[in-house]
Order: sequence, then C-alpha cells, then structure tokens
Amino acid sequence: MSALTDAIDTLVTANRILAHENVVDAFGHISMRHPDDPNRYFLARSRSPELVEADDILEFSLDNKCIDDKGMNIYIERPIHGSVYAAKPDIMSVVHNHSYAVIPFTVTKTPLRPIVHVAARIGHGVPVWDIHKNFGDTDLLVTTNDQGDDLVTAMGDGRVVLMRGHGATVAGLSVQDAVMTSVYLQVNAQLQMDAMRLGDVTYLHPGEVNIRLARSQNFLGNDRAWEYMSRRAGR
Ligand code: MN
Repeated sequence: MSALTDAIDTLVTANRILAHENVVDAFGHISMRHPDDPNRYFLARSRSPELVEADDILEFSLDNKCIDDKGMNIYIERPIHGSVYAAKPDIMSVVHNHSYAVIPFTVTKTPLRPIVHVAARIGHGVPVWDIHKNFGDTDLLVTTNDQGDDLVTAMGDGRVVLMRGHGATVAGLSVQDAVMTSVYLQVNAQLQMDAMRLGDVTYLHPGEVNIRLARSQNFLGNDRAWEYMSRRAGR
C-alpha cells in the first residue's frame, strides 16, 4: 500500500475502534490531517463510524470545505476539525464524540480530572466549553467556523475540551494518540463517577501526570493497545 492508502486505512480502523469501544455511536467522528499537506484533512462522509470504509473518506480544507464530496452528505460539525488543525500545527488527528460517561462532567461543577494512570494523557484538568456563552440559544452543534474557533480557544494548551450538554473533542499527535486519549477519557469519567460515589477521591498528583505525559508518545504500550483494540474491532 502507498503511504497515503495506509494512512487512510488507519483512519478507517480508528473509526471502528471508537465505535467498538462505545466512544461514538451513530454520531461522532475522527479526522486526520493530510500527511503530505498540512492545509488539508481527511474525514468520512456523514456515516456512523462503525460503518466507515476507505471509500467514505473525503478531503477538506482547513476552512472545512469539501474538496470533492462525490455527491455524498458530509458531517455538519466539521468546523470542530478544521479549527483545531488551524490553531494547533502539531495536531494530526481530532476526535469528536458524545460519550455518555463524560456528559455529567459537562453539566455540573465537578471537574473531570485524571484518576487512573492510563488516563494521565487527558492532562491535568479538562476545561468545559459552553456554546451558550458566546452564541446564545443554538441546537448545540458546532456548525460555524466561529463556533469551532471558540471551542479551540476553550481547549487552550491542552488536548481535551468537554462541551456542555453535548460531548467532547480530543486532539492527538497521531490518529492512535487521539483514539487512545478518547478511549481513556471515557474510562476515566466512568471510574471517577464510581469513585465519587464511595467518597473523597485521590486524583493523580500533578508530578505523576507530568511523568506519564512526557513518555506517552514513545510508550511501548501504545502499540500494544492499538493492536488489541484493532483486533477487538475486527481489523
Ligand atoms: Mn456533536
């Protein structure tokens, strides 16, 4: 396979993994910056991630125009992706999801914080963006480039932002990185909810998070997790 075909195959696998791990359902999507053109990105046509095939992958400009839609419907929330790539040159992949486990942390004052070692990759704390603050009453979907830019501003220097009453957006240095962070964001949300039912929670210490973050890109376990989740997803 050519390098580009191989990259698109990885993006298809990422769609299947996110579906299999229940990070996405009928909705939610993952994109990948074009490996040869930083001003373009790849994203599936409007289709549930579990069903995405290589032929569904379309190319977009960073202002979220489809280069050739081949007559297919496209995701309305693509400004989430273009805005992240435009603002963060090191980011190579973006996931948007409606993970049920994270929603409670978007609508209450309880911060989502890393509680388990494998979730240190979500960062020290996760900000919450509220579309209502700057855009008033909407359908809560990120459908304009201004809304996408506002979301990325709320993400700040981190890799994750929660979206009030809606879901989450995750940025990654690779497709694998974005997928793993999305999966473990959900795991952390579930575990934090469980722990809070029992009583006071001891979160990861900031120094522990830093040590995990420093090695997360080179960690041998990343390949192991990717292989495991790919198999589980039938790839
Ligand atoms: Mn959405």
